[in-house]
Amino acid sequence: MLKDQDRIFTNLYGMHDRTLAGAQKRGHWDGTAGILEKGRDWIIDEMKASGLRGRGGAGFPTGLKWSFMPKESDGRPHYLVVNADESEPATCKDREIMRHDPHTLIEGCLIASFAMGAHAAYIYIRGEYIREREALQAAIDEAYDAGLVGRNASGSGWDFDIYLHHGAGAYICGEETALIESLEGKKGMPRMKPPFPAGAGLYGCPTTVNNVESIAVVPTILRRGGEWFSSFGRPNNAGTKLFAITGHVNTPSVFEETMSMSMKEMIERHGGGIRGGWKNLKAIIPGGASCPILPAEACEDAIMDFDWMRENKSSLGTGCMIVMDNDTDVVKAVWRLTKFFKHESCGQCTPCREGTGWMMRVMDRLVTGEAEVEEIDMLLDVTKQVEGHTICALGDAAAWPIQGLIRHFRNEIEDRIKHKRTGRVSAVAAE
Ligand code: NAD
Ligand code: SF4
Repeated sequence: MLKDQDRIFTNLYGMHDRTLAGAQKRGHWDGTAGILEKGRDWIIDEMKASGLRGRGGAGFPTGLKWSFMPKESDGRPHYLVVNADESEPATCKDREIMRHDPHTLIEGCLIASFAMGAHAAYIYIRGEYIREREALQAAIDEAYDAGLVGRNASGSGWDFDIYLHHGAGAYICGEETALIESLEGKKGMPRMKPPFPAGAGLYGCPTTVNNVESIAVVPTILRRGGEWFSSFGRPNNAGTKLFAITGHVNTPSVFEETMSMSMKEMIERHGGGIRGGWKNLKAIIPGGASCPILPAEACEDAIMDFDWMRENKSSLGTGCMIVMDNDTDVVKAVWRLTKFFKHESCGQCTPCREGTGWMMRVMDRLVTGEAEVEEIDMLLDVTKQVEGHTICALGDAAAWPIQGLIRHFRNEIEDRIKHKRTGRVSAVAAE
């Protein structure tokens, strides 16, 4: 279990003071110019040594991503873009950082931007996060007034501006290239990759898009050292991380822990245990809606990190779990997720636009028990035709929950069809 002195977001544990004075008391903005003086290569090497993997869900190594930015300028400006469009159902961890500790994010923006040769950073914040936008803007204003950002930021000699852009509530704008399109004032539709943003991103310029938490941990990692951060968790799954637990637990929460802790221990310590005890657990979606569901048997020995989840046909995603007890209708739960992804598809590519519609129509029939048993395999086949054949990951995200449902709960679907269990579910399906 993580000790108090090793928590990065200590404010989440009761120190509710998000002002600059409060942040400085917690050690933020202390010797920032000294960190920049160590140079771009030192910062990137230290980030690589920390083993930090992107906290937005995909887990791409952060230091490596930074190293893709051109070393020399070819005349195009470089940009850092912070993805604060936190919209994955059940995910609300970045919100805590922006609400309670916005200065650590702003200081992280300065350091990361300097390391990548960027004089400007854009934070793209989710449309629904209004109080968080206000907190962040107030902190940005404070940082400008104190000379921490702006011309000669923090006395480092580096000019640095930071802009906050408020999104309009579209889930797809959390996809990094759709986010860039939206920032440019266009419709938020993902671009084909490659080119990756480091080659051609915002306004066609070298850009790195990072998650809020990935940037907010940077100042602490550089103060305490990459080796310190990498001492938590298993190799390839290093560090501390914000996790969340929602659903049928006694005390839903957002909390900071070491990577690679057992799922069971996390739920006992930070979620107050499963409602009705562990024997009442049916399934858990480990890291936000797009991760395949795990049945109770698999959760027994589950480890909350990237590798364990991948080896067990799920993914860590954002590490924000959805816990379902034995009273949960899992078919209905996945039906609801299918509806979400269909609604949020931007419609740009055929497999996703048409495939999410197909999946929805079959899920409608499964949830009401009106389908034929053969349709289960047909649905699985449709998910396989969507998975890996789309411009962005939303297609996969729509396919995976259904695949997980069929893999682990086929009996429940068949039972529903055989007994034409309509009643309660048909009323919900009509919502
Ligand atoms: P991805 O694996 O395609 O990319 C991850 C990052 O690595 C991107 O920044 C990408 O540019 C970079 N990258 C990957 N391969 C690269 C290469 N060869 N060269 C250079 N850069 C490379 O994943 P993604 O589509 O960005 O994200 C999908 C994840 O997002 C899902 O796993 C899901 O968990 C998560 N997600 C999170 C939220 C949220 O609210 N936090 C919402 C939706 C989805
Ligand atoms: Fe749009 Fe879906 Fe294609 Fe992504 S996969 S670009 S959301 S249609």
